[in-house]
Amino acid sequence: MNCQTAESMVNRYIEHDLSVDELEDFLEHVENCPSCYDELETYFIVHAAMQQLDEQSRDSTLDLRELLEEDIRKSKHYILKMRFRRALSGMGFCALIAGLGGFLIYIIMQVL
Ligand SMILES: [Zn+2]
Repeated sequence: MNCQTAESMVNRYIEHDLSVDELEDFLEHVENCPSCYDELETYFIVHAAMQQLDEQSRDSTLDLRELLEEDIRKSKHYILKMRFRRALSGMGFCALIAGLGGFLIYIIMQVL
């Protein structure tokens, strides 16, 4: 992924609107590209600050930089969870195919 693509995804990252694959590529890029990370951080902090204004929450002492790190951690956890889920459903599909194959072989053996 190049910087232009990453920058175009910043808003969607903040809105949590990226697919798992996009999210993974995006995080990989920003973690290795200081300028995109800065860009993300700026947008994220502005976004978080606006939300805090809306909510008028009292814990405005919250460190916004940490908030982004926390969000990235959560995103990575989400990627792992979705990958795991996908792997599980893949395994389920294989088991189904194997089961059907076994069943067919059983039927053929009976007929022969
Ligand atoms: Zn970049």
